Amino acid sequence: MTIRNLLTVLIAVAWLSPAAVSHAQAAARHKMIIAHRGASGYLPEHTLPAKAMAYAMGADFLEQDVVLSKDGIPMVLHDHQLDAVTDVATRFPGRQRADQRFYVIDFTLAELKTLRVTERFHVRHNFGQPVYPKRFPMGKSSFQISTLEEELQMIQGLNQSTGRDVGLSVEIKRPAWHRKQGQDISTGVLEVLARYGYKNKNDHFHLQCFEFPEIKRIRNELGFQGAIFQCLGDKVAADGTDHEFLKTAEGLAELAKFADGIAPAVKHVVTGDKESGLKFSNLIKLAHERGLKVFPYTCRADELPPCAATLEELFDLLLIRADADGVFTDFPDRGAAFVRSHEEAKHP
Ligand code: CA
Repeated sequence: MTIRNLLTVLIAVAWLSPAAVSHAQAAARHKMIIAHRGASGYLPEHTLPAKAMAYAMGADFLEQDVVLSKDGIPMVLHDHQLDAVTDVATRFPGRQRADQRFYVIDFTLAELKTLRVTERFHVRHNFGQPVYPKRFPMGKSSFQISTLEEELQMIQGLNQSTGRDVGLSVEIKRPAWHRKQGQDISTGVLEVLARYGYKNKNDHFHLQCFEFPEIKRIRNELGFQGAIFQCLGDKVAADGTDHEFLKTAEGLAELAKFADGIAPAVKHVVTGDKESGLKFSNLIKLAHERGLKVFPYTCRADELPPCAATLEELFDLLLIRADADGVFTDFPDRGAAFVRSHEEAKHP
């Protein structure tokens, strides 16, 4: 047994001993509600109104997915393509690539600002149909794409005017793809964050990324001192991230050298249904034993997994029964209400 392995075992034993962390201490931890793309269950995702609504609904963190414009500006958008949430196809006909998709990185900030954002719609099968039909109607009102900087100014402004301290959850999207296009997204994002005072673990924010090689680079080469979460998917991704390995005890130990937490999918934590039986994985236990926090994604009232009949049931499975540290949800009002009622029940 190497010294490192021995240390890992000793740390794990210490962590598991009742003296190290009592159940009461663990239960007393505040469960974090991360507004997934803002209050995206109610307003078009990643627009400033969706972020303001999530803020007012009591989210602990607001999420920003970030991609780069042609002129290297970090923009808050989930996809590296524009066509599923904007009118780009009618505004800029002919600007699509061979795959018929319109890429954010092919448009300047000035061009992106002319686009209207709408509720997400299908761009392949069921073209033009809303992905979530009961949400905000498509093509109504007026919404814009915003830069990361504009969103940080709004959140910091609200933190000043309300006296609250709502945090950022910044996902760096597709760093390997951006590099192939000749752009370094991580450096661009870290520069904006640092300029607004988000630098280390005392600052109220964390980064997220699906690409483990990039997380290592952000720590080792870019010298990032803040918190960072590894997002978990399935299989081996094109960027080299082995998502199956990262969910094992050995993989989580490797992750813990660089990351502070993981963001697994709901199905990585709990599967099955009430009739055939719920099945909890040991992922959260293994992650907690290695000092990693866990924030499963994504809790949606209108896209529930078979394990839960209501959104509140899903919150209960993840936050209480599986002991996740927080969740990503499109419905931050219901997440915040769930956490509040649970905390009040414990401390009436
Ligand atoms: Ca995200």
